[in-house]
Amino acid sequence: MIPRNVRKTTVVIGAGHAGLAMSHCLTSRSIDHVVLERGEVANSWKTERWDSLRLLTPNWQSRLPGFGYDGDDPDGFRSMPETIRFIEQYAKSFSSPVHAHTTVTSVRTEGDGYQITTDRGEWQARTVVLATGACNLPVVPAIAAALPADMRTLTSRDYRNPDQIEAGGVLVVGASASGTQIAEELQRSGRPVTLAVGEHIRAPRTYRGRDIKWWMDAAGVMNDRYDEIDDIVRVRNVPSLQLAGSDDRRTIDLNRLTGLGVRLVGRLAGVANGKLQFSGSLRNVCEMSDLKMNRLLERIDAWATENGLDKEVEPSQRLEPTRVEASPPLQLDPRKAGIKTVIWAAGLRPDYSWLQVPVLDRKGRVRHDGGVVDAPGMYLLGLPFLRRRKSTLIDGAADDARDLTAHLTQYLS
Ligand SMILES: Cc1cc2nc3c(=O)[nH]c(=O)nc-3n(C[C@H](O)[C@H](O)[C@H](O)COP(=O)(O)OP(=O)(O)OC[C@H]3O[C@@H](n4cnc5c(N)ncnc54)[C@H](O)[C@@H]3O)c2cc1C
Repeated sequence: MIPRNVRKTTVVIGAGHAGLAMSHCLTSRSIDHVVLERGEVANSWKTERWDSLRLLTPNWQSRLPGFGYDGDDPDGFRSMPETIRFIEQYAKSFSSPVHAHTTVTSVRTEGDGYQITTDRGEWQARTVVLATGACNLPVVPAIAAALPADMRTLTSRDYRNPDQIEAGGVLVVGASASGTQIAEELQRSGRPVTLAVGEHIRAPRTYRGRDIKWWMDAAGVMNDRYDEIDDIVRVRNVPSLQLAGSDDRRTIDLNRLTGLGVRLVGRLAGVANGKLQFSGSLRNVCEMSDLKMNRLLERIDAWATENGLDKEVEPSQRLEPTRVEASPPLQLDPRKAGIKTVIWAAGLRPDYSWLQVPVLDRKGRVRHDGGVVDAPGMYLLGLPFLRRRKSTLIDGAADDARDLTAHLTQYLS
């Protein structure tokens, strides 16, 4: 039966790990709610990721409220089927009230709460939690329209495996986690890759004998708070670390990629007369990235010393600076260079086209203070640095969901 104006205290939109973490916290406080999901639980992992993807966070780093990893490989990295199973098991573990295949088409203010319209009924709620994810839409710059008509283009969200890509060269645009992983896979499949490199953050997979994520967690880096950061708007736009999860725990930085034969060029800045134009900033962005990585390693070293770990772990080390060719090309004719496909890995962004409450700024971002939205009783979860550096990771949902549930409970009372 299609629900008609069913009243709930809270409607959570989205059954990824973030919406489920919130559902768990609401359940613990006996707050009656539903979770509306356009697909199935873990929909993004089921439908929007490439086949070989593994989490770049180790298995142990997925501590959700009331749930976590209990296998015998805490330092391993989940494949996609394992990630999906993990999130499905989480939903089952506390019988989260998920309504699957229910797409929210509008949320608007109604009385002292909200009217939530879906393609399968309507709900009314005093409070709403937006947990629809940070990665709904690929960022594709306007210059994409000027690419030669015979070039095939796709986004990191649509990429599945090398068999999908015709033989010949590939330009991957974006050198963060997705771009570098896809570039490596395609280069190894025999398709020569050119990688357009903009701002990125380099990081070694292991440092002083331990996983970089272990260090960042232990040293408190992941717990840095949004209200203690000077320029939070800028930091929220910083790309993901250049990391991958693999059995051999390899570092997937630009030096590794050039060692495999990948050609580096600057940020794709334009397309003129069918030619690709690249920014001259390649060396600068690489130096900046090395600098930021070294700052992170310095923070880790200082923490290790303060905590008496220096004798227990390997000595401090620094990676070779990123190698950049003396004069990387500023222009390429894709036909002459044999580039047949462009893959946009320049970032992903949320989609709030269904949100009819005036809380979006001029860039389409929800106005909020640490997830407390600028509309009474509305909350947001799962965005980069929402409340903490870890907010957009599986491991970050617990603290944020607990904080926001506490706020929501107080609001209701
Ligand atoms: C390529 C990639 C790799 C990543 N790797 C890691 C990693 O290694 N470790 C890690 O911790 N994090 C990783 N992340 C980040 C993050 O954990 C994921 O993006 C995660 O999916 C975010 O969880 P979420 O619950 O916030 O959003 P999602 O998992 O995207 O869940 C949002 C849900 O909302 C639903 N939805 C959206 N709009 C509507 C609507 N209008 N009506 C109803 N339902 C709707 C979606 O179908 C989806 O199920 C990665 C992200 C990407 C893109």
